[in-house]
Order: sequence, then structure tokens, then C-alpha cells
Amino acid sequence: MKPNYPNRIPLAYLPTPIDKMDRLSRHLGGPELYIKRDDQTGLATGGNKARKLEFLLADALAQGCDHLVTAGAAQSNHCRQTAAAAARCGLGCSLVLSGKAPRQKTGNVLLDLLLGAHLYWTGGKSRADTMKDVLSELHTMGRKPYPIPVGGSNVIGATGYVLAMAELLEQLEAQRLHIDFIVVASSSGGTQAGMVLGKKIYGHRANILGISIDRPADELQTHVAALATATATHLGLGTLSVSDLIDVNDDYVGEGYAVVGEAEREAVQMTAQFEGILLDPVYTGRAMAGLIDLIRWGAFTRQQKVLFWHTGGAAALPAFANQLL
Ligand SMILES: *Cc1c(COP(=O)(O)O)cnc(C)c1O
Repeated sequence: MKPNYPNRIPLAYLPTPIDKMDRLSRHLGGPELYIKRDDQTGLATGGNKARKLEFLLADALAQGCDHLVTAGAAQSNHCRQTAAAAARCGLGCSLVLSGKAPRQKTGNVLLDLLLGAHLYWTGGKSRADTMKDVLSELHTMGRKPYPIPVGGSNVIGATGYVLAMAELLEQLEAQRLHIDFIVVASSSGGTQAGMVLGKKIYGHRANILGISIDRPADELQTHVAALATATATHLGLGTLSVSDLIDVNDDYVGEGYAVVGEAEREAVQMTAQFEGILLDPVYTGRAMAGLIDLIRWGAFTRQQKVLFWHTGGAAALPAFANQLL
């Protein structure tokens, strides 16, 4: 099985390092913990969207587009990295953000504006409708906009994480490291879909556990399966089924998207204070809270090796100061 990768624009610092989290492992009395530092991809502080944008930007430029349009939550990391990618490639950027313009421009909103993006707040409207309006406005102005779905999670974006699995495998082989589990935050599904497909293609032995951020497990699982299958076709691999490899846990969605609870607070502080690593309150803090809970429940043996895939997000921290301290 040899994927036929389309062109990509190098935007990320790759490969990202793998660190061992000795102090956190010892504190939890749990498995050997490792962390894949995709918070260090660069592109306006880093995060998982950098890998997706490498392929998305190549497609946008190949189509002769001159403006990126995407959407997300107010503190979307995907929107911030899209704005950075647009700036890097000399394209315009319009972002559709949920809700009303906040009085205080902080976290990713501050960075979006510094990166030169135009912000459109949905107010009472849906993101999809607002996106349609922005796209037709740009067309009227004679621009050639390139729409990117929420989270960059289509077959083009997910391809970034198929390639990331090839990168990981090469690193693990070089380090003679045998990982049993990979734990990753999963929301729009592109990251997990790419990783699962990469596991299938490259014959990775690690089980991939997606911690759902905001969706019921069956819904996310179905979505990830469909996206992974479509990505396989996109890469010229025909029809591949990966549904048996998709493991989603929705025990940690708490009060919903971006609602910071005690579990996220503990995970963010514990990772910061035992490892000097910053997580974010929405995605990686929630996924780490899930991993901590699974360790406390005895889901892993002491000898097993668990790799936490850090997908970024710390740029949002200032916006959640009141909920984190
Ligand atoms: C977008 C994002 C995720 C989730 O990735 P998906 O591909 O949308 O599932 C995880 N962590 C961070 C920090 C993100 O910004």
C-alpha cells in the first residue's frame, strides 16, 4: 500500500520531537508516558492544523485562489493557523467566528487580528450561512476564495496526519521505542482519521485512542471512519475500511465544548508543573484529563508505553485565565 501524496507547501517544522514525561509518569504511578510535540510545529505558535494546512495551501495555490476562508469557535486554533498560513503565502484571509465580537481581544482573536485576518462574527446566524455570505461577497469583489471546512478536516487536511504517522514510525524505529497506545484529542476528526489511516498503511502496532472533545462517541466514530475511507481514496488507495481501528472515548466531554471544568484545570496545571509543558483548556487539557483518569482507573500497566499526541492550543490560554486559576 503506497499512498500517492499530493503536493504540499512546507509550513511546519518537521519532524516534531518526542519527549519522555518521566516526572508525570512517576507522579501518576502509571505507564511510561511520551509526548509528540505537535505544539512545536511553528506557524504562529504551532499546533496540529499546520500539518493539514501544508496540503490545503498547496491545493489553494494550485487552483489559483487568492483568499482563504474558514470558520471556527471564537478561540479557534485552526483559524489562527489558517491566518498565519495565508500571510506566509501572500493570500488574504477571512475568518467566520461563532458568537459576538468579544470586548477584550485576547488569545487567538488577538493573534488572528495581528496576522491580518478579517473577522466575521456569526451573531445570531449559523456558521455555514455566514460562511456562504462571506464567500459570495468575496466573489463579488472579484476575489478567488478558497473555502476550508471547520478544523481543516477534509481529505486534503487529513492527509497531513497520514504523513505524520509515517514520521512517527520512522522516529520510533530510530529510537527503538515500542508505543502501545497513542492518545489524541479528537473533534472535527481530521487528525484521528489521518492517524488511523496512517496506522493501516504503515502497519503501526499502537492503538489510537481518540478522546472526544465535544461529540458522542458513535457520531465521531462514524465521521472519522468516513473521512479516513475518503482520504484513502484521495491518496489513490481505493476503498479501504479502517472502522475497526477507530477507538473513540466520549467520557470526558463534560459540560461541552470549551467549558473548562476541574478535570481540565487539573490536567493543564499538572502537565505544566511536572513537565513544563503547556496544554490548552479546550482540547489537549481535556484529552490529558481523560488520559489521567484512565491511568487512575488502571487502564494501562506500568510497563506499557503511552504516547500523548500534543496537538497545540496554548495560544488560547490567556482567553481562559479566569477559568484556569
Ligand atoms: C483542532 C484541534 C484539535 C482537534 O483536531 P481535529 O482534527 O479537529 O479532530 C485538537 N487539539 C487542538 C489544540 C486543536 O486546535
